[in-house]
Amino acid sequence: MKLLEYEAKRIFSEYGIPVPKGALIRAPEEVATHLPEIGDTVVLKAQVDVGGRGKAGGVLMADGATAESTAQELFSREIKGVPVREVLVEERLAIEHEYYVSIAIDRSSRQPVVLFADAGGVEIENAAQEDESAVRRVIVSPLLCDIPPFLMRELLGGAPKALAPVINALYHAFQEKDAMLAEVNPLVTTPQGVYAADAKLIVDDNALARQGITVNRDLSEREREAEKHGFSYVELDGTIGVIGNGAGLTMSTLDLIEYYNGRAANFLDVGGGADQERVTHAVRLVASMPGISVIVVNLLGGITRCDEVAKGIIAAGVAPTVIVRMAGTNEEEGRRLLAECGYRMLESMDAAVKAAMEVAE
Ligand code: GDP
Ligand code: MN
Repeated sequence: MKLLEYEAKRIFSEYGIPVPKGALIRAPEEVATHLPEIGDTVVLKAQVDVGGRGKAGGVLMADGATAESTAQELFSREIKGVPVREVLVEERLAIEHEYYVSIAIDRSSRQPVVLFADAGGVEIENAAQEDESAVRRVIVSPLLCDIPPFLMRELLGGAPKALAPVINALYHAFQEKDAMLAEVNPLVTTPQGVYAADAKLIVDDNALARQGITVNRDLSEREREAEKHGFSYVELDGTIGVIGNGAGLTMSTLDLIEYYNGRAANFLDVGGGADQERVTHAVRLVASMPGISVIVVNLLGGITRCDEVAKGIIAAGVAPTVIVRMAGTNEEEGRRLLAECGYRMLESMDAAVKAAMEVAE
């Protein structure tokens, strides 16, 4: 899960990374109450789950006289389509230089990799594309508690040594928070010292419980419903509903739709051992998406029994056409039940996807 900037900064500061003084506000009027502590020269930053806010108008400068109207302006904006509900008010740093640092897992060596660039900030991607040597990278053994000094020197090159303890602290946060990514861009030098001017932390979803992180994102009604039933569910922007069991089979179904130039409306994995009731919930959930005319149900009967699935589909009784491909346990009985009620059950997933494409068109 990707944390918002203020959440990541709170965590980074626990690890000794200096962050600007700041406060989170949910309405423009609140800004005034924080200025005595933060000071009059501020930056207002939209707390939205998108990158490149600076360029998209999500980071605004203000002073005591303009803080409230600037906050008003920011709250009225959408940043890359995302409405602004929270704003981080921060003391404005007197930035001397912007660096880039990030830590992720290197897939090929299966170890943490630390990236560093002298030219951080909003142009880092362009800089890195133009000149690969602009970004230095070192692999750090996960058995080490710190980035060893020789690797730190290699990483920093000619950059100030004062950055080293901050990068090391970021490495601690990365390891202890089960992060998939810990990034500070820009990491800045100022006359007052080094600061994390921005912060990004993605925590491995599998570690959220261990980390005591509760997910409180704005979920749609359907997403909440999916969570309640334990479905893996993602909404996409196509027209063909998809229900599968197992992430692999469900993804393959999506791939096949894409292969035939169709567009899936969603990903829904009902999980293992789905019974009649779960299938009914899944079918109704997908059918409730706007603009759905057809749903492909692609299931492998193992512990899941095809006759249960058939009953679940029939009980759902939804308006969109439901096209079924099932194989495995009690397949014959499932086929018989579906046929009785006029549902199409096809032999292969290829045939099922093609049939769905015809209905969708
Ligand atoms: P992002 O565009 O979503 O990555 O948002 P950032 O937090 O990185 O802000 C974008 C840019 O705004 C930074 O690269 C800085 O150049 C600028 N910025 C952010 N905070 C400050 C600040 O306190 N002082 C100054 N002078 N510039 C800032
Ligand atoms: Mn940034």
